[in-house]
This record gives sequence, C-alpha cells and structure tokens, in this order.
Amino acid sequence: MMKYEKEINKRRTFAIISHPDAGKTTLTEKLLLFGGAIQTAGAVKSNKIKKHATSDFMEIERQRGISVATSVMSFEYNDILINLLDTPGHKDFAEDTYRTLTAVDSVILVIDSVNGVEDQTRRLMEVCRMRDTPVIVFINKMDRDGKNRFDLLEEVEKELSIHLHPMTWPINSGKDFKGVYNLHDKSLVLFTANTKASDDEDVVTISDLNNTVLEDKLGDRDAETLREDVELVDGVHGPLNIENYLAGKVAPVFFGSAVNNFGVKEMLDTFITIAPAPRSRETTKRLVDVQEDKLSGFIFKIHANLDPKHRDRIAFLRICSGRFERNKYYKHVRLEKEVRFSNPYSFLARSKDVIEEAYPGDVVGLFDTGGFKIGDTLTEGENFYFTGIPSFSPEIFKEVVNKDPMKTKQLEKGLLQLTDEGVAQLFTQFGGNKKIIGCVGELQFEVIQYRLLQEYGASVEFRAQPYYKACWITSTDKKKLDDFTRFKSSNIAEDKDKHLVYLAQSEWFLNTERQNNPDIEFHFTSEIH
Ligand code: GDP
Repeated sequence: MMKYEKEINKRRTFAIISHPDAGKTTLTEKLLLFGGAIQTAGAVKSNKIKKHATSDFMEIERQRGISVATSVMSFEYNDILINLLDTPGHKDFAEDTYRTLTAVDSVILVIDSVNGVEDQTRRLMEVCRMRDTPVIVFINKMDRDGKNRFDLLEEVEKELSIHLHPMTWPINSGKDFKGVYNLHDKSLVLFTANTKASDDEDVVTISDLNNTVLEDKLGDRDAETLREDVELVDGVHGPLNIENYLAGKVAPVFFGSAVNNFGVKEMLDTFITIAPAPRSRETTKRLVDVQEDKLSGFIFKIHANLDPKHRDRIAFLRICSGRFERNKYYKHVRLEKEVRFSNPYSFLARSKDVIEEAYPGDVVGLFDTGGFKIGDTLTEGENFYFTGIPSFSPEIFKEVVNKDPMKTKQLEKGLLQLTDEGVAQLFTQFGGNKKIIGCVGELQFEVIQYRLLQEYGASVEFRAQPYYKACWITSTDKKKLDDFTRFKSSNIAEDKDKHLVYLAQSEWFLNTERQNNPDIEFHFTSEIH
C-alpha cells in the first residue's frame, strides 16, 4: 500500500454548481445534515448578493464574509471525508467559481425542473467540459409543476452536450409528485415532504415491476406509466458505465426536491460510491501521481479581508500529493523561496481551527501577506506548475483613469495585488501605457475601486472600452504575429504575464480577423502558467 493511500481513498472533493435559485444552498444544507456537520435546517446562509446594488458595499462585505467561512465545508459520511467547495452564486463573481472548479475532482450540477437549463448552468458546464470533470445531475424542485421529464432530459443533453443516465425516475411532478423509482436498486421511494435529514424515507423494494404493490402505492394509471417509462429508460441506458462517468462523458441523473430532503440521500449514497477520489494531476513538467510521498499543491483562490483593521489575506491551497504539515518548509516555486505556515487553517465543520496535517483532496487556508497569486505552486523542492488553471476572457473592459497622480505608485501596486488575487485581469495596451481592466461583472469594478481607495489610498475612475472579448494570440510564425500586432496595434494588449492579447470589438470583428489570419491562433482562455 502506498504511504497515504488510505487517506486519499477516503476523500471526495467536489463543488455544487447551479444557476442562482436552482437550489444549491438548500442542497448543501441537506448534505451537511446527512454528514452531521450541522444540526438544524437554516444553518447554511445563502452567499447570494440579493440585489444588484452596485454601491452597496455592506452587502459585498457580508457576502465575502460568509463566503470565506463557508468556502470549504468538510464533513464525514459513511467513513468518506467529503470536501465541499463553495462557489459564489452571483454571476459577477463567476471567475471565482471557474477557478474553484480547477480544485475539485467532480461536481454536482443542480437544475431547476421548472426552468431547465439556464445561463449560468451553460457556462459552468463549459468549464467542466474543458477539464472532463465528472458530473452528477440533480434535477430539483420536482414538487413543482416542472417540464415533462423526457423533454427536460433531452434539453439538458442537447444544451450541455453531455449524455445523461437516469439513476432514479420520477413519478409525476408538482402536486401529483409521488416519488422516484430507483432504477439501480429497484426500489420505490415515496415522496413525503420532510425538511429534516433522516433515514426514515418510505422505501418499498420492488424487484419485479409487474408486482401489484405498484398499483397499491401509486394507483393504476401512475403504476402503468412508471412501468412504461422504466422499460423505455432501461432499454436505452442499461446499467451505468462508471468509466464513462469518470471520463466526464456520461452524467448520472437524480430527481428530487432539496427543500423536502427528497431524493438527496439516493444521490449522496451514489456519490460516495462512484465519485472519484483525488486523482493524479498534470503539471508543466510531468504527471504528479497523487500517491507520491512529497507534497505538492496549488493556490486556486485568495480571499482578502475588506476590513481595514484586518488586512490579512487567506490563500486557499489544494493539496495534490503528499502530506501537508504545519511548520514544515515548502518551496514557493515562483518566488524560489522556502516558506512555512504556523497557522494553517482547516475547514472541518466541527473544528474550524489550526490543523497539523492535510492530505490530497484537502484544502488548507494559508495566512498570506501578499506573497501568493492564483496558480502558485508549493512543492518539496521541485519546480513545476499545475496546468489547467486558466484565465477566461473577461466580458467588460474599462480603462483605469488615475485621479490622483501623487498616488501612482500605490495604484500600480494595488492593481498588481488585486489582479494577483484574481479579482480582475489587467491588460496594458500595446506600445502605450493605457491600463485596461477586464472583468466578468460590473460589481467587480465597484469592488476594485473601493479596495484601491481603502487599501492603497489610490483613487480611480473607469472609462468604458468598446471591447467584447479578449483573445490570447499565438502563432508558430513569428513574423505573421509581429505583423498582426503592428497592423492592429490599437487592439493589442499584453496581459500581466506579457502574453499578447487581441481585444475584439465584436464577434464580427473577431471572426473576420480569424478568417483573415489563418496562421494566428485565437485562444479564449489563457493558462496562467
Ligand atoms: P441557490 O441560489 O441555488 O443557492 O438556491 P436556494 O437553495 O437558495 O433556493 C432558492 C429557492 O428555491 C429558495 O426559496 C428555496 O427554498 C427554494 N427551493 C429549493 N429547493 C426546492 C424544492 O425542492 N422545491 C421547491 N418548491 N422550492 C425549493
């Protein structure tokens, strides 16, 4: 047995993703109840920013405060240690979510049965697709009059381009919702509204669907429909191919109602059986085997305290191999120096406290005084970076206008630090000095303006820029790339790592340039390293 095999095999690190309001918070809470991490419903606060009040900093701070406390929720269920990584609900902080997805081994996707596939669902799944992240789908709110179950599955398959594999099958929806049939262990789980986590679900084992018990429980019409549905679904799908799930090609689907704690246990039991334990990861140098003795891990999130009295930052380290130990020296690869941490922070629900050790799949909070940026790697001496931690093209671009020339130095420092934290992306116009900030949402500009003033004393305004996307450009033909950047210089910028970026005004411009310049590759994401 490998040194840490037992610890590694008992861990499952994942995130729940959804369009806002689909039921992520509610489902999280039910999972925590099952794990015994909380005792009562209502204990998990939504991390949503309720209204889009751009100058409501109290709201932003409140949200950030909650989100650090619940960034990672660790709990045990049936001897499995579950690390649930929280993702911000607000779309303006979507980049945070994308990065968190680089630190998980699988996801649970919640879909509202009434609304089906929504905007955020689509974008988040794109990120999962890029990494072939295994996905389990939970179709929520079956107690409401939702879409027809077959239509809904077809919509999800088509819109998210993933094959679905129903694990349970619903009997009606809305006020006629009677429960689900578990296709795997052939049992009927009858629906009762219930907000507590308990094992006393009304479950009837039905090994033969022709048994008239079905009529007794469901009535003639629904019993017949269920038989037909199951025959159809079983005929199409057969048993779940776990390899295909692990490869991100097939997503098992569960139907339920999170608020009623219905269908959640079926999903959780399957999750701990099939979801991947921490796996080996690719780096710029070699594949790092998760079973290696030596520590490696990367920073995927940095959380700064907005309270001026507490200027600390917490960097979130995802451990990829080896054992992390308190007070041991590790190599900070980018800074080429040895660092150690005397107060690493754990997220175990019962003991939010300093930890002595952690294993692959775990996330450790490291108090940081500005030495980290997203993508940084810790090792025991070797030099490499984990790959697949990209920046995504921002969607809103604004020029930074310095309103206080006396504070230029502070401004530059602030911009660098905030972008290291991943709050926004910074582009410098080619051949000029114009600094352009790219974000996913308006709210981020408000946060930047506020923090530059509060933390660095720099006062800025933003001037809107007419760009629609930033594409990183590369070419094997250096001359062609040089020519392009020269001809298009007003649309060219460099990102923080001096990579060339083409700022497109519109989709039409982008497509035209791509057609006219076949030797140049346009990338919609950049690997940070
Ligand atoms: P989030 O934005 O994805 O975190 O969604 P929430 O968990 O906050 O849920 C949004 C709303 O949907 C809340 O009012 C929940 O009470 C409600 N909700 C969650 N699950 C269900 C469900 O199964 N049925 C119904 N009818 N409502 C639900």
